[in-house]
Amino acid sequence: MKTYDVVVVGAGPAGSTTANVCAKAGLDVLLLDKAVFPRVKPCGGGISNRTLRLLRIIGVNCPESLIERKILGFQLVGPDLHSVFIHSNSPLGCTVIRSKFDHFLVQKAVAAGAMFLDGHRVNNIERQKNQIICHTNQGKFGGRLLIGADGVGGRVARAVGLRGPLCPELTGIAVEADVSIHKEELEQKIDSNILALYFLNIPLGYAWAFPRRAGLSLGLGGVASQLQGLPKKLRIFARLYARQTGLQIPPLRKIVGHPLPAVGFKQPLVADRLLLVGDAAGFVDVFTGQGLCYAVESGILAGRTALKAIQKNTFSDAALSDYTKIAQRRFGEELNRSRSVAMIVHNHLYGGFRLLRHIRGLDKLVKDIAIGETDFYRLLRNPLKSLGKGLIGELRARLTHQRG
Ligand SMILES: Cc1cc2nc3c(=O)[nH]c(=O)nc-3n(C[C@H](O)[C@H](O)[C@H](O)COP(=O)(O)OP(=O)(O)OC[C@H]3O[C@@H](n4cnc5c(N)ncnc54)[C@H](O)[C@@H]3O)c2cc1C
Repeated sequence: MKTYDVVVVGAGPAGSTTANVCAKAGLDVLLLDKAVFPRVKPCGGGISNRTLRLLRIIGVNCPESLIERKILGFQLVGPDLHSVFIHSNSPLGCTVIRSKFDHFLVQKAVAAGAMFLDGHRVNNIERQKNQIICHTNQGKFGGRLLIGADGVGGRVARAVGLRGPLCPELTGIAVEADVSIHKEELEQKIDSNILALYFLNIPLGYAWAFPRRAGLSLGLGGVASQLQGLPKKLRIFARLYARQTGLQIPPLRKIVGHPLPAVGFKQPLVADRLLLVGDAAGFVDVFTGQGLCYAVESGILAGRTALKAIQKNTFSDAALSDYTKIAQRRFGEELNRSRSVAMIVHNHLYGGFRLLRHIRGLDKLVKDIAIGETDFYRLLRNPLKSLGKGLIGELRARLTHQRG
């Protein structure tokens, strides 16, 4: 059995980024995935500029051929079905198809020198004195260091006791369906560079319509414990969206779902010879549902920590704890606040949408939150100014409503 410097379990964006960083630094890296690539991954495929910038740090440029649509703004739809449009002159990110995007990232890791074995499901982890062994359906592989990048509820974290079973209150759930629509029809009937987000009283969640080159990703997600019958809800949303836009949306045949972590930055990320990254670590913004930028950023940070550990030949959880500290500083607070933000916004959806219509500058802030460039709490840094303007707007709206 060969022992690698680093074995990465899971070849999603978090795993391939870690593998890429380690391989580029000259480490002997094995990247394992249970699926055969390219594999389907249920996802809206919305990628922010922040994610694209992080990828450029490791020398990965997302090619035009992978970009389905550039994102030039948002349509936010409130529970009363009134829309607020937020436009940008320059692209805020893009949409991609995850099977292609994830495969591209794996190919980049392989080009950097990582060995990739797909169709290898890790069933168990065995700790030995100088290595960790992964038992897969196709043999054993040893690593001086192991990276758990196997997604939410991942086997690696559970096998070493870093995580227990998923708890529905702290887990998100989202379903998604891809629909094909002629490019011309799409461009005629909707602004095909806009991401539509519908806040329709879905507990801590929303429904979306994200444009592709010739179609849409339609989806819906929220907290698992409060959502039942998601496929049915998605079909209802698809009919509503079709009515609102006039698009001919075919019946949704293949609806796929997947859990998302909704815990924030609260659980341990390292153990002896082990680091968790991406969804396996719990890195998803509960409010926006975005996980790709945290998958990539945690992959970069874990890769750098792995390199230091191998160079110094120290693998204790204390030696690896720098990873936790840096990740906490870079995005820990942001993730911890996103759940409270989601609660505040969802408890005040009607008022929130009114404020959005009346506070000048709030739309820009919301746009920056949606693409992960800023934090909701910036609004609270200058509360008097923001709220003062908001309250006047709200008051005016109420007076007009009463008179009408
Ligand atoms: C419906 C939906 C829509 C979403 N939309 C967006 C969006 O628009 N924008 C955004 O930023 N985020 C979105 N997210 C979140 C985003 O998809 C995740 O945060 C992201 O995929 C995390 O990447 P990852 O590499 O950590 O995990 P994953 O992409 O889940 O990859 C984990 C990999 O591990 C492999 N694996 C699992 N178990 C094993 C095992 N035992 N052995 C070997 N391999 C294993 C899997 O096959 C998989 O390839 C969405 C999530 C869902 C569910």
